[in-house]
Amino acid sequence: MTERVGTEPSIFTRILRGEIPSEIVLQTDDVFVIRDIAPQAPIHLLVIPKADEYADVVELAAGDPKLLASMVEVARVAASQAGAADFRLIFNTGVGAGQTVFHVHAHVLATRFGGLAEATMAGGLPDGEEA
Ligand code: AMP
Repeated sequence: MTERVGTEPSIFTRILRGEIPSEIVLQTDDVFVIRDIAPQAPIHLLVIPKADEYADVVELAAGDPKLLASMVEVARVAASQAGAADFRLIFNTGVGAGQTVFHVHAHVLATRFGGLAEATMAGGLPDGEEA
């Protein structure tokens, strides 16, 4: 585990502690779920480990793959609870990819009744780019 001496708690840790208001819509022993404050789809949830030692999904996968698997399962349950069977799961990784909070979290994006066409955030490649 990396000790983050001298760093501030992340905004998600502060939400978990109740220092910043946000409704926790689902939680397990290790993971909690909140609604994104700036939703980019009709359903936009954030799935977050309670511990903040991993900054992004690459670190998490290397350090605790079981916790990553737990996040995916919690994402599935949270999406289902919100009314979506299908969903988009996004881990922004690095500043260049739009990551702004360095406490690993997954974005769950979906619409309530099926189709994903309106679920944005990396929903397609920029014009002129090919996969
Ligand atoms: P990322 O840019 O991938 O690091 O995602 C961070 C996300 O946290 C953004 O989508 C923000 O809208 C969201 N966010 C920031 N502050 C809050 C908050 N207080 N409550 C809920 N979501 C937040």
